[in-house]
Amino acid sequence: MESERRPHGKSCLRCGICCLTHPCAMAPEDLMKLARFLGMSTAEAFKRYLILDYVLVSGQKRYYACPARVGDQPGGIVSSDWTFSDSPCIFLSDNSCKIEQAKPRGGKSFSCFLMTGKRNRLGFGKRGAAEAWGRSQLLRELLRLVGACEVS
Ligand code: SF4
Ligand code: SF4
Repeated sequence: MESERRPHGKSCLRCGICCLTHPCAMAPEDLMKLARFLGMSTAEAFKRYLILDYVLVSGQKRYYACPARVGDQPGGIVSSDWTFSDSPCIFLSDNSCKIEQAKPRGGKSFSCFLMTGKRNRLGFGKRGAAEAWGRSQLLRELLRLVGACEVS
């Protein structure tokens, strides 16, 4: 949700549609920031609020973290039929982001049609996130936590 940006003078409507329909991809630094914001370890933040999703690159799974949806079991890897549009982000409350001060890069970089009049654009999407996590020691730690032994 791009609640603060007003690129063409239009304010965010706080309709929450973005956070109901788009995964907000996180960079590894976002998890560290979120953990600090919540006052807990990165492992605890992951287990309580996040999941690992993936993109397929040349047939291989490339993982990245993002918020769980309401109804998900946080702290795991999404199943293959996971779609964000089934259920809102776990951090969405009254159409606002509850972790505004620690909003992940995917949420901050989202450029919204309703505000700009131009087609929705994700500055930091799944692929960018998977690339960022692929270089991260933190991903190996999360995969160990969920019981997956390697980055496949
Ligand atoms: S869809 Fe657009 S207008 Fe609605 S909450 Fe998200 S950024 Fe704001
Ligand atoms: S973390 Fe915040 S900005 Fe990202 S999807 Fe959830 S409610 Fe929206």
